[in-house]
Amino acid sequence: MLSTMQDVPLTVSRILRHGMTIHGKSLITTWTGQEAPHRRTFAEAGERATRLARALRDELGIDGDQRVATLMWNNAEHVEAYFAIPSMGAVLHTLNLRLPAEQLVWIVNHAADRVVIVNGTLLPLLAPLLPHLPTIEHIVVSGPGDRALLADSDAQVHEYEELIAAHPAEFDWPELDERSAAAMCYTSGTTGDPKGVVYSHRSIYLHSMQVNMRESMGLDDRDTALVVVPQFHVNAWGLPHAVFMTGIGLLMPDRFLQPAPLAEMIERERPSYAAAVPTIWQGLLAEVTANPRDISSMKNVTIGGAACPPALMDAYDKLGVRLCHAWGMTETSPLGTMAHPPAGLAQEEERSYRLTQGRLPTGVEARLAGPTGEILPWDGRSAGELEVRGPWIAGAYYGGAGGEELRPADKFSADGWLKTGDVGVIAPDGYLTLTDRAKDVIKSGGEWISSVELENALMAHPEVAEAAVVAVPDEKWGERPLATVVLKDGASADYEKLRAFLAERIAKWQLPERWAVVPAVPKTSVGKFDKKVIRKQYADGELDVTSL
Ligand code: AMP
Repeated sequence: MLSTMQDVPLTVSRILRHGMTIHGKSLITTWTGQEAPHRRTFAEAGERATRLARALRDELGIDGDQRVATLMWNNAEHVEAYFAIPSMGAVLHTLNLRLPAEQLVWIVNHAADRVVIVNGTLLPLLAPLLPHLPTIEHIVVSGPGDRALLADSDAQVHEYEELIAAHPAEFDWPELDERSAAAMCYTSGTTGDPKGVVYSHRSIYLHSMQVNMRESMGLDDRDTALVVVPQFHVNAWGLPHAVFMTGIGLLMPDRFLQPAPLAEMIERERPSYAAAVPTIWQGLLAEVTANPRDISSMKNVTIGGAACPPALMDAYDKLGVRLCHAWGMTETSPLGTMAHPPAGLAQEEERSYRLTQGRLPTGVEARLAGPTGEILPWDGRSAGELEVRGPWIAGAYYGGAGGEELRPADKFSADGWLKTGDVGVIAPDGYLTLTDRAKDVIKSGGEWISSVELENALMAHPEVAEAAVVAVPDEKWGERPLATVVLKDGASADYEKLRAFLAERIAKWQLPERWAVVPAVPKTSVGKFDKKVIRKQYADGELDVTSL
C-alpha cells in the first residue's frame, strides 16, 4: 500500500523560495577589505539569483542539465549562483581555485562546463587556462579585476552585474525530479584522475535539514555564520543552502582568508558560529595570541576536514570559543559525524567525547570492515575501515558525458557502501574515533602506529606550532614514523626533549627515531596536511633529518 502523502520533490528552488520570503530580511555580509563590508538580504540575493537564472537561460542558452562552473571566493554572488543554477535545472560545478592548472583543466573538460562565473580577482588564474578549455563558451565576470586578461579569449565575456540587470526577476522554476543532478564537486584525489561527486536536489535538501539540526550545526535566525570553509570545498559544508532554510545570517570572507583579516572581521561583525579546517583555527590562534582581538562571539565553531588536535581545542576553550569536531568527505556532502557529547558528563569525560570524530546522524549508517572485509563490532576497540551509506552519501562517481558511472572497488563495496579509506573504531554508543587514513597508518613490524596520535601529542608541546608524522621505509621494521615539526617563534629544536615529552603519552615502541624541523607543513588545496609531499621530500633527500 502506498501512503496518502503528497509527493513533493525536494528541490533547491524550494529552499530558495523559502529563504527569500520567510527569511527575506536575513543578511549575507561579504568582507571587502575596506571599512564597510557589503550587505545584501536573502530577498535581494534571491531576486538576483532569479535574474541570473533567467540570463543563463535566455541570453547564454543554458538548458537541461548543462554544467555552469564557478571559480569564486565565498561571497554573496557565489551564493546567488548556488541557488540560480540548480533551481533552473542546470548543474552547479564549483571549481577549486587552489588546484594545479592541469587538474583544473582536466576537471572543466571532464564536466564539459559551458559557462564559468569568475571573480575578477581570479582572472589571472583563469585566463592562461582558457586555450585549453574548449567547452567554455561564456565567461561571466563578477567584482573588481583586470578584464584585459580576457582580451584573447574565444569565449564571450559578460559582466555579472550588467547581465543580471538586463533580465527580469521571474523564473517559473521547473518541477525537477528530486534525484536529478544539482551540483558537482571533484575530489582532489591523491592518485589517479580527480573524481566527480554529483549531488542531487534530494541529497542537498535532506543534508541541509541535517545541518540545521541541533545535533549538527544547530543554528537559527539569531545566528550569523562565518563561512571560512571555501564554497568550492564540498559546498562550504552545506552551509549556503542550509541557511536559506532557517535564516541564519552569513558572513563571507571573500578573498580575505589570512588570520589578521579573519580576526578583524570576527571582532567587528561578531559571528556566533564559524566553520573551517584545523589549519585556519591554528593560524587564527597564533594571530590573536600575538595581536589580541575579541573573538569570543564565536560560541559554536565547527572544526573538521582533518583531525582536531586536543591542544587546539583546549586553547580555544580558554578563549571562550567552543570547537565542535566533525568528520566528513566530499563523497558525504560532507556531514558524516559531529562530536556533541551526551548530556550530563563531568568536564574531563565530556572533553574525551568532544575529541572523537563524533556521533552519526540518522541519515548516515556506518560499519567497520576488517582486513578481509569482515564486519567488526562497535566495541570501541576493533579498528577497521569505515564504510558509510545514506541519502547524502555518494554511490558512484561521475563518468563524464555519455560515460558509465564509476564504481571503483576500492571506493564502493559490492553491496553499495562507500569505503571511506579512514580507519577507526566505533564505541557502543555510536561515537566514531578515527586513528588514521588507511594510507597514512605506519605499519611497523606488523603493528600499526597512528600518525594522528603522534601528531596530536606533539602539538600539545608548548614549543610546537604544527607537527606532521608520516611513514618512511625502514629496513628492520618495514616502516617507521618520521616526525616533521614546525616550531613556534623563538623555540629551538631539541629532539631528545620532544621525544621525552612524547614518551609520557605514547608507547615507547611507537616513538619516532627520525626527526626534522620544517618551516611549514605542506598543505593540500583545502588546507589539510599533504603527507604525500612530505613522503616525497623525504625520499628525495630534501629534509634535514636527524636520527636519534
Ligand atoms: P575531503 O573529501 O577532501 O574533504 O577529504 C575527506 C577526508 O578528510 C576524510 O576521508 C578524512 O580522511 C579526512 N577528515 C575529514 N574530517 C576529519 C576529522 N574530523 N578527523 C580526521 N580526518 C578527517
